[in-house]
Amino acid sequence: MGNERIYNFSAGPSMLPLEVLVRAGAEITNYQGSGMSVMEMSHRSKVFDGIFQDTQAKFRRLMNVPEGWKVLFLQGGASSQFSMAPLNLIGKTGKADYAVTGNFSSLAYKEAKKYGEIHLAASSEDRNHTYIPAQDQLELDPEASYFYYCANNTIYGTEWQYVPETGNVPLVCDMSSDILSRQVDVSKYGVIFAGAQKNMAPAGLTVVIIKEDLAGRELPFTPLMMNYKTMIDKDSMYNTPPCWCIYMLGLVLDWLEEQGGIAGMEKIKHGKAQMLYDTIDSARLFTCAAEVGSRSDMNVTFRSASEELDAKFVKEATAAGFSNLKGHRNVGGMRASIYNAMPVEGVEKLCDFIRAFDRNN
Ligand SMILES: *Cc1c(COP(=O)(O)O)cnc(C)c1O
Repeated sequence: MGNERIYNFSAGPSMLPLEVLVRAGAEITNYQGSGMSVMEMSHRSKVFDGIFQDTQAKFRRLMNVPEGWKVLFLQGGASSQFSMAPLNLIGKTGKADYAVTGNFSSLAYKEAKKYGEIHLAASSEDRNHTYIPAQDQLELDPEASYFYYCANNTIYGTEWQYVPETGNVPLVCDMSSDILSRQVDVSKYGVIFAGAQKNMAPAGLTVVIIKEDLAGRELPFTPLMMNYKTMIDKDSMYNTPPCWCIYMLGLVLDWLEEQGGIAGMEKIKHGKAQMLYDTIDSARLFTCAAEVGSRSDMNVTFRSASEELDAKFVKEATAAGFSNLKGHRNVGGMRASIYNAMPVEGVEKLCDFIRAFDRNN
């Protein structure tokens, strides 16, 4: 079974750990003697409630979520949070600060403008989002209701290496593509959100961590289903939650625990990324797209000497069992997404492939 799998460098949805898929497969028709699949269960049933509570507790433990912060399991994708965050949080002062460092923060910034006075606190557009602005480059408004940023820029391959200091202004952070890969001090954040399909579970689940006292100040026209308070009061079960994805997240969290939790994973993923960056930096033909000091450990963007050679690289890599290495059209070149579930061996083999290609071309 395992030997048919290829190394999938997709930016998302992306690889899930093989052990998790095997376990889900074994339980797919009859979950632990219940006589049914998790997909077929009432979300109000005792069995599913057990899965739900257990997954929440594991998530809280692994992320070290403090008292006073709620963990919500929602639908809608990370993109739904581009609207939900301003709808719920901007009412405080009518203003918010946004750092635009890539595609998804740019979309969030445009969406937020519908709901208040949005100030561009920082932008990396001047150098095509190849870097993360430094703390002293952030233009902070002390009256902002919140400061918004995206921790890891999936398309451009950059990642914030520091947590912005914003005084009393709460941080709202899109961690869709690096959640569970690095230790996070949740108490520094007002809201953290992430779509599941990069590092957590299949697509369809959106995890939100919210400081509880920030909820309840939504704009009057906030839709019921976009109100954090609705979801806090009903423990994410106002309606049917993404049951199967929540179950899958639970399995991924068990696997993560076996890797040494987030601290263990942080070492593993940093080792993988270092190996790949070192290989690219020492190659004759290849260069990294992101600037040193801003490089992402999750999405490695690079290019060769020409577009023709990039195309040849992607074609030959695909034939050799390394899939989805073509870069996003905004950046060109190549992108290797090496989320938690990408085995070290997959990165080692890709490095071998890069070195061989470098010699032969
Ligand atoms: C993939 C991604 C999104 C979009 O996620 P959806 O769940 O498809 O809405 C948003 N932000 C980041 C950082 C992403 O990587």
